[in-house]
Amino acid sequence: MKVADGTVVSFHYKLTDMEGETLDSSEGEEPLTYLHGHENIISGLEGALEGREAGDKFQVEVGPEGGYGERDDDLVETVDRSNFEVPGRLEPGMQFRAQFAGGERIVTVQDIEGDDVTVDGNHPLAGQTLLFEVEVTEVREATAEEISHGHVHAHGDHGH
Ligand code: ZN
Repeated sequence: MKVADGTVVSFHYKLTDMEGETLDSSEGEEPLTYLHGHENIISGLEGALEGREAGDKFQVEVGPEGGYGERDDDLVETVDRSNFEVPGRLEPGMQFRAQFAGGERIVTVQDIEGDDVTVDGNHPLAGQTLLFEVEVTEVREATAEEISHGHVHAHGDHGH
C-alpha cells in the first residue's frame, strides 16, 4: 500500500541540522505513527512521504517554509522576572507556555540580566533547514473513526 490521504504511516527517522548535528531520532524507540493528509506532521515531511511504501528509505531536506517557519524577531521579548511562576529558578534554556497575540506559544528563556528576562517565542527549529533520513516501516488503511478524529488511535486503544 502506498502512502496517501487516509492511510496511517509508521516510519523511523533521524533529524539532523545543516551542520550534521543530530537533533532528534526514533532510533531505539517505536517508529513515529501518524495519519497522512491531516497536517499531523510538518508539511515538508508529509509531502515527501506521499506515494512511499513500507521498506522505502529516503532522505529529504525541509526548508523553514515546509518545517517550523521563519524566525520572527517580534517574538523575542524582554519581560520582568516576576512574570514567571518560578522567578527564583530561571535559567537560560527553560521553556514555558505563554500567551501571545496569535495564541499560546512555547517560549524559551534566552538570557537573564538582573530582573530582565529575554524570552524567545519562536519554535526552536524555526528558520532552520532540516535533513530527515526516513525509513517507512508500515502503511495501513486508517479506520473511519481515525479519519473522523483526524489522528491515529494507537493499538486500537481509544482513551480520549
Ligand atoms: Zn480519536
